[in-house]
Amino acid sequence: MAESRANHTVSVSGWAAHDSSGKITPYSFKRRQNGVNDVTIKILYCGICHTDLHCAKNEWGITMYPVVPGHEIIGEVTKVGTNVKGFMEGDRVGVGCLAASCLECHHCKTDQENYCQDLQFVYNGIFWDGTITYGGYSQIFVADYRYVVHIPASLPMDAAAPLLCAGITVFSPLKEHDLVATAGKRIGVVGLGGLGHIAVKFGKAFGHHVTVISTSPSKEPEAKQRLGADHFILSSNPKQLQAARRSMDFILDTVSAEHSLLPILELLKVNGTLFLVGAPDKPLQLPAFPLIFGKRSVKGGIIGGIKETQEMLEVCAKYNITSDIELITPDKINEAMERLAKNDVRYRFVIDIANAVTSNNN
Ligand code: NAP
Ligand code: ZN
Repeated sequence: MAESRANHTVSVSGWAAHDSSGKITPYSFKRRQNGVNDVTIKILYCGICHTDLHCAKNEWGITMYPVVPGHEIIGEVTKVGTNVKGFMEGDRVGVGCLAASCLECHHCKTDQENYCQDLQFVYNGIFWDGTITYGGYSQIFVADYRYVVHIPASLPMDAAAPLLCAGITVFSPLKEHDLVATAGKRIGVVGLGGLGHIAVKFGKAFGHHVTVISTSPSKEPEAKQRLGADHFILSSNPKQLQAARRSMDFILDTVSAEHSLLPILELLKVNGTLFLVGAPDKPLQLPAFPLIFGKRSVKGGIIGGIKETQEMLEVCAKYNITSDIELITPDKINEAMERLAKNDVRYRFVIDIANAVTSNNN
């Protein structure tokens, strides 16, 4: 599709990476004017997902620079197009990873736009008008209303931002495996980061026995005391792994880097499922024996649909689930990215975008 930026006249201040160093600097650009199906959002907060880091550094080899990352966007509606249904000026809203999809395929028609083959992301995607999308590390966002959700009144805007990606990405597989409505299963969460810590909170809220499988001994007390995990396995400890063999029904793997699946698969009961949401830049080896001897399955998934995202937010409001966050001003984005790369965040950085005016000079 030919690019059409003719109506891209709205000036926006944001932050972008320009090359694979991943360094983020202030960046001014234009967004489209609010169309008939659009809402314009004054962004208040945006979470820093590990995907932002993968993309800023071009770790997956698909980055189109300059890239304005950010897909955990929360703010207030400032403009509403004439065809928009369900949103008004002043509404507290969120935008996650999705900017566009075909709206016509089976997946779009059954509220699984996240599996549409023409799916486009809110950054590093190509919108219907052919332009490259820019994400939430910016002060204003323009979104088609069909990809916007309401933020329940009881949820704080800053700590709710990570729910738009991290939250839905772990909620969707739990729901698909009947782990939201049915309690009492034994589930594992590999990697206690942004996604992982919300998965633990969901697992406990839904009445499961939750085991964290982690590379970080320092996370054991927090996993148990603050997040409520029942059990903690240090993945470098063969004895702990051995003791938990064949004990889990379902394991969610949120790890962002290359790692071995063999010991994780051995933790599953016969017929158990390993669900991958982490997206390492290198392929993972899939050993056949633990699948064969345990009739186990491995699958993956990407975020969730928009309707499901709204449902997830209502569930979070019901159980009072938000992300544990470290709130930063935009001048600290690079520091935050470096700490995220070093696995040093508890458990999600969120950018206080509205506090940018005085700090947009890094
Ligand atoms: P994160 O906050 O950095 O958490 C990842 C966790 O993985 C870390 O906290 C760490 O937990 C563990 N880890 C890191 N390096 C490791 C290594 N070398 N070996 C084993 N474990 C390691 O990242 P996130 O934001 O949660 O994202 C996690 C992954 O999910 C990323 O790859 C991201 O791109 C992907 N993602 C996928 C989707 C989707 O739709 N499928 C959506 C969002 C994000 P411990 O310290 O406990 O070991
Ligand atoms: Zn994300």
